[in-house]
Amino acid sequence: STNLPIPSGPMARRAARRVLVQHGERKVWIGGDAPVVVQSMTNTDTADVIGTAIQIKELARAGSEMVRLTVDKPEAAAAVPLIREQLDRMEIDVPLVGDFHYNGHILLRDFPECAAALSKYRINPGNVGQGAKRDTQFAQMIEIAIKHDKPVRIGVNWGSLDQSLLARIMDENAARANPFSAQAVMYEALITSAIENAVKAEEIGLAKDKIILSCKVSAVQDLIAVYRELARRCDYPLHLGLTEAGMGSKGIVASTAALSVLLQEGIGDTIRVSLTPEPGGDRTKEVVVSQEILQTMGLRKFTPMVIACPGCGRTTSTVFQELADNIQTFLRDSMPEWKKSYPGVEAMNVAVMGCIVNGPGESKHANIGISLPGTGESPAAPVFVDGQKVATLRGERIVDEFQNIVLEYVKKNYGR
Ligand code: SF4
Repeated sequence: STNLPIPSGPMARRAARRVLVQHGERKVWIGGDAPVVVQSMTNTDTADVIGTAIQIKELARAGSEMVRLTVDKPEAAAAVPLIREQLDRMEIDVPLVGDFHYNGHILLRDFPECAAALSKYRINPGNVGQGAKRDTQFAQMIEIAIKHDKPVRIGVNWGSLDQSLLARIMDENAARANPFSAQAVMYEALITSAIENAVKAEEIGLAKDKIILSCKVSAVQDLIAVYRELARRCDYPLHLGLTEAGMGSKGIVASTAALSVLLQEGIGDTIRVSLTPEPGGDRTKEVVVSQEILQTMGLRKFTPMVIACPGCGRTTSTVFQELADNIQTFLRDSMPEWKKSYPGVEAMNVAVMGCIVNGPGESKHANIGISLPGTGESPAAPVFVDGQKVATLRGERIVDEFQNIVLEYVKKNYGR
């Protein structure tokens, strides 16, 4: 007999401190054994209170567990408490994260209501000022975070790395007998910037369990290398994301490739997929992609999974594509309500198959499955529920009838 020790599943999660991000009763934990958190960022002008509140509502409804917004000017800082008010009125309790660059110390100081309304601050240590001012301005922001009891992400980005720190690391490298490569210097500068600034924040008085780190770069292999090393050198929770991932499938594939490798190694406590939106594109796509990365890797469950064959020359009709697409959209759109009424429904899976070759087999393994007729098969679509054939659908109403069967199953099996 064979009893091969085949490893399965991700490696043990890296041990990281837990950081609480909170708005009112809503608590989002990042790190420790908390589920990997999905977050996103608005692309509206923050000064536009209504436009920004609507986009945050859409992102939260799509499943974003925290939403970041840029706070770049006095009008934006003044708008933040009003946005929070609008969201509270709509009973959207998603925590908001303020993204600060260059003038964060002034905005947080001059707009205390903004500082209070945000649940977390993102500080880019490369964009807090130059020379002696740098330390003072960084300290000002950390002191405000301490006063308001807010966590901080020290978010380093290769595109805005602290130039004096980079120069120092390059000098140190040049003085070595065997200097490291330019690439290694870049990695070192990113990691050092994150960790040194975290240590500075602690020296100023910010508690260790109020700090999250990130070191974003735009190339997949660089991101993997940097985070592996960052993860090894500290126990702060890590925010993962490939910056400037790009448009369309390139952005999705690059983010998925980079994040999956790290998540598989137990690295990463919160993720954001940054996609350049297509003109008129839907911002919630980045939330859907984040959720799909985590769900397909078996790390979290958000929406019932649809298993659909790719279709081939045996697929006879467009009903197959229509049905697969319809069921996916129906399940996703139903989730915000279903989460309240049908706990556990996200674990369900539905198979939509194009012919008899793999159709009945795959359908029997799913909670609900349908096998549409392929070339030369009789025009009937058997439906299986928990492995048993329960119906055969025919005709033009297959899509609606199958959707009703799914809904009945959900009510029966997941209703309170
Ligand atoms: Fe083609 Fe049938 Fe396989 Fe779908 S299940 S890919 S239609 S052979």
